[in-house]
Amino acid sequence: MPVKFAKYRTQVRARRSELPGYEHSGKLSRGHGITVKDIHDECGVFGIYGHPDAATISYLGLHALQHRGQESAGIATSDGQELKVYRQMGLVADVFNADVLKTLTGSAAIGHVRYSTAGSSTLLNAQPMKCIYSGGSIALAHNGNLTNFASLRHQLLARGHLFQSSSDSEILLQLVAAHYAPTLGDRVAAMMTQARGAYSLVILTADQMLAVRDPHGFRPLVLGRLEGAPVVASETTSLGLIGATYEREIEPGEIFIAGPNGETSCSPIKAPRLARCVFEQIYFARPDSVVFGRQVNTLRTEFGRQLAREQPVQNADVVIPVPDSGTPAAIGFAEQLNIPFAMGLIRSHYVGRTFIEPEQRIRHFGVKLKLAPVAEVIKDRVVVVVDDSIVRGTTSQKIMDMVRSRGAREVHLRISSPPTRWPCYYGIDTPSRKELIAARIESLADIAQELTADSVGYLSVEGMHQVVSGGGGDGYCDACFTGRYPVSIEDQYAPRGDKTDTV
Ligand code: AMP
Repeated sequence: MPVKFAKYRTQVRARRSELPGYEHSGKLSRGHGITVKDIHDECGVFGIYGHPDAATISYLGLHALQHRGQESAGIATSDGQELKVYRQMGLVADVFNADVLKTLTGSAAIGHVRYSTAGSSTLLNAQPMKCIYSGGSIALAHNGNLTNFASLRHQLLARGHLFQSSSDSEILLQLVAAHYAPTLGDRVAAMMTQARGAYSLVILTADQMLAVRDPHGFRPLVLGRLEGAPVVASETTSLGLIGATYEREIEPGEIFIAGPNGETSCSPIKAPRLARCVFEQIYFARPDSVVFGRQVNTLRTEFGRQLAREQPVQNADVVIPVPDSGTPAAIGFAEQLNIPFAMGLIRSHYVGRTFIEPEQRIRHFGVKLKLAPVAEVIKDRVVVVVDDSIVRGTTSQKIMDMVRSRGAREVHLRISSPPTRWPCYYGIDTPSRKELIAARIESLADIAQELTADSVGYLSVEGMHQVVSGGGGDGYCDACFTGRYPVSIEDQYAPRGDKTDTV
């Protein structure tokens, strides 16, 4: 009803004006019951329809997506009648075993791995999320972040909807349930008119599996085939592991539906521009994946070459990567300048990403747990250390210390992406601006001094786009480097003083 809606809008505005400034772990407002941390998810999704081993295949598919999320894992299956869900905190290998997989019966399945900051580390936020709506049981798994989650949640709460979790993904389920339309596809299309921001989704009902990508295409989602069964996954590496063939990307704005009558696809919504996340290619995706049509390993090696052209180091003796994320770029850098490449830092594969650790003092410890220097590669040499990105600078500072402690003559840090100056609101976990070293400190010389490096050099934004698309970055989101946000951020979500212009 228009009148009620107008009144409601006024209430929302009034409440917004009471909102405190952004605090990374603070409540957004009374009544939301959610924190900013709650909606910072980086995830991987998987789905398969019409395969006798759907649960086991999903388990394998999720293994290949483990780098996208280590906090919780879950699988939902359908046997044509009912949905079963199993989700737990932990890694895929720890969450599932043969007995659990046996209980997940049926020939259709969706799965999820989740990575988030500590504030929302609860089982209730684990996915797939399942509920019952007027059409029956439905489960959903989501990669990305909604940028209008707070107002959507307000609206739904005001209409009497109940929430079990603080995750923005539950909002998507509620929107699908709230829209009355003849088919599930129509309901999802209606949901897409309201949800803003980043979402790559898999949805499962008793007899259908849907794959949905937001119209800007922020996060990847691909379609493959295993023994005739359609498979969807965040990254192609999942398809490779299960032996599926790659067919195509789920297009931005597409709803792909597999059901008893075959497969259909529609694209109800078009965005004014694509905004595929360039950070997927820089850091987040696995190098063996093809993301947005490009082989990630090739791109990263080329970022390293371009970095070497832009920020060479004279008289360097050796190039060493920060493994694993810096390795392809370091190879490219070394090749371009004809400098020997060596593994000067060895990574322990038995600790997770240090970024996950919430407290600064534990994070410091974490770098040492994760990386160890190789003295004979480093001693008395002019060393170039190559990493994919600097966020707070904690890791780099520790690495500079480590390399110097093994007797390096000089240590030069080269980064195969531009300075990270802006937080991501579309699904990559970044801290607030005040914590980003390149937002705090303007000049390269001052950053080098803080990190105790002899010099620091980043890839330019232009160089990055040249590598990715051969041009000016059309079709990509580079907001973490430029502050040009392709989808506006709700004011209560954005830090005070952060620019949230849209382009
Ligand atoms: P920092 O110590 O905060 O500067 O973290 C930088 C390191 O974290 C680099 O080695 C990156 O490979 C890695 N990194 C960058 N972005 C992320 C992210 N969103 N999540 C986890 N790790 C990241």
